Amino acid sequence: MKAVVFEKFGETPTIQTVPDPEPALGGVVIKVEATGLCRSDWHGWMGHDDGIRLPHVPGHELAGVVVAAGSQVTRWKTGERVTVPFAVGCGRCFECSSGNHQVCEHQSQPGFTGWGSFAEYVAIDHADTNLVRLPDEMEFATAASLGCRFVTSFRAIVDQGRVTPGEWVAVHGCGGVGLSAIMIASAMGANVIAIDLTDEKLDFASKIGAVATINASKTPNVVKAVKQITNGGAHMSMDALGHPTTSFNSIANLRRRGRHVQVGLMLGDHARPQIPMDKVIAFELEIRGSHGMQAHRYQAMMEMIRTGKLKPELLVGKKISLDEAPAALMAMGGFEGIGIGVVTKF
Ligand SMILES: [Zn+2]
Ligand SMILES: [Zn+2]
Repeated sequence: MKAVVFEKFGETPTIQTVPDPEPALGGVVIKVEATGLCRSDWHGWMGHDDGIRLPHVPGHELAGVVVAAGSQVTRWKTGERVTVPFAVGCGRCFECSSGNHQVCEHQSQPGFTGWGSFAEYVAIDHADTNLVRLPDEMEFATAASLGCRFVTSFRAIVDQGRVTPGEWVAVHGCGGVGLSAIMIASAMGANVIAIDLTDEKLDFASKIGAVATINASKTPNVVKAVKQITNGGAHMSMDALGHPTTSFNSIANLRRRGRHVQVGLMLGDHARPQIPMDKVIAFELEIRGSHGMQAHRYQAMMEMIRTGKLKPELLVGKKISLDEAPAALMAMGGFEGIGIGVVTKF
């Protein structure tokens, strides 16, 4: 099969012909029809993820068709249209048994712990536990765009952030994660403030539901601005970018008993950021992480997409071919444009 391969961290990936994958006993092989481009792939390529063994094929936001299934797979057969969470649960550990496959103790991650979906085919383990059926009307590109940023935002806003109607929600950073969160929190009935450095992204944020925007490049004190708009602070706030400044602001702009959810990755030098712990104690603030979303929670999100309450297709950006993927991957270190780039030609 054709695949994007890198032999060394930080060196230009190339298109190579590599052996087709075989399904594990409980796994499947999926013919990739669409795969999203994500900053996490860039982190992996740069060597920020210690689970990656070289040579490596990146890609973890995928949708496609099952073309082979192992003998122990009971719920899936060839020809079915599917997607999969980026954290693939073992189905047997304590966390999986409690329904929290997104933090499985033995999780595999396509494109990180194994070869990913920047290829014609990808193997996925533990298929019965992790595959998600696509609604017939959903395009592969839309399904791939859910893969990591949209589902992570859904869990961050709905399950971890526990947003309720009428609450103020601040979203710091309007890349793929942030825009997804704005759409989802608005659909949940919250009043959303979008914060970013560019007016272009803030205008788009307004179109998909934000009721207020803050351009952080022109606002000397973002925390104060959020507190003013919300009359005392946000009930829930999210760092969708993953930077010490946005993470700090997202915690500091909360009202008493507010909830911060960290979704933007904090790696390398950013892994141990400052936290206003005095406020966390005095205001009884909550700080939570959010790590993807387990397959069995997709159904609620899929129903909101099917009924038009959520429109992830609006967040799909450029569609490119696999040949263009190496250049696009290397460019992900810069700030994202609007929309999630998706490989749709292999
Ligand atoms: Zn597990
Ligand atoms: Zn991703």
